[in-house]
Amino acid sequence: MASGRKPSFGHQPRKRFGQNFLHDPHIIDGIVRAIRPQPTDILVEIGPGLGAITEQLVDQVGQMAVVELDRDLIPHLKISFATRKNFHIYEGDALKFDFRRILADLGGERLRIVGNLPYNISTPLLFHLLTFLPLVQDMHFMLQKEVVDRLAAGVGDDAYGRLGIMVQYYCQVEPLFQVPPTAFDPPPKVDSAIVRLTPHATPPVTTASPAALGKLVTQAFSQRRKTVRNALKSVANDALLVQAGINPEHRPEQIALREYATLNDLILAASPDAG
Ligand code: SAM
Repeated sequence: MASGRKPSFGHQPRKRFGQNFLHDPHIIDGIVRAIRPQPTDILVEIGPGLGAITEQLVDQVGQMAVVELDRDLIPHLKISFATRKNFHIYEGDALKFDFRRILADLGGERLRIVGNLPYNISTPLLFHLLTFLPLVQDMHFMLQKEVVDRLAAGVGDDAYGRLGIMVQYYCQVEPLFQVPPTAFDPPPKVDSAIVRLTPHATPPVTTASPAALGKLVTQAFSQRRKTVRNALKSVANDALLVQAGINPEHRPEQIALREYATLNDLILAASPDAG
């Protein structure tokens, strides 16, 4: 197969499941090298599709679980990986999936999670995955490049906002490499990129309530063009903003994660029921 194209079993890619199947062997190889699979790993792939990445990983790890929503793909996966005793299929929606199940079924302490994610659900899926972080060693994802830019954005960047702030609160974010549309079948309309997310062993920033921090940042960025004084006027006055080291005249994208976390704690201390 000079093009590296995998047999499709006659499966027609479905847009509603975000199916853009990888067929470029160099890109797949790059993803596998970035993951550095180990014999002790319990690896979870979200959306294995036709198994293009799966087949390069399954023999290199201890256990491999896949979570796939499209039930038409399940028989193909069962046939393709029938001889692999360490391969486990979970049919269902990754957005609702309880990832603790895999450790309960397979034993072990921590999961490594990978996936060429369906782009239409990537943001809610990332937020869902953040709720399982104590069980997670690391995560490698293919996402729209624009989403990787948002994940990695620093204060002042155009892409800086709720997604980056909340993911950076929990994880180290490393954009790894870009992937062109031609690597997929069918090609998506946008560039893609691979990112590694590693939960912080020691969080650089903490707050008493990450959930309240999420609400605060959502409120701040819902009025991106306003000053923080205006965007946050229902929860914080100027004195509180200044106490958190925030200039009330600044816009939400000029405020660092650390300052949002400090402000969050000050708001919680001022009205403990707010979280
Ligand atoms: N890993 C394959 C590859 O790289 O060629 C397929 C990637 S494709 C971009 C996304 C995959 O996620 C598809 O197999 C799709 O059916 C699956 N998928 C879509 N929504 C899902 C969901 N909510 N839960 C689990 N899998 C999902």
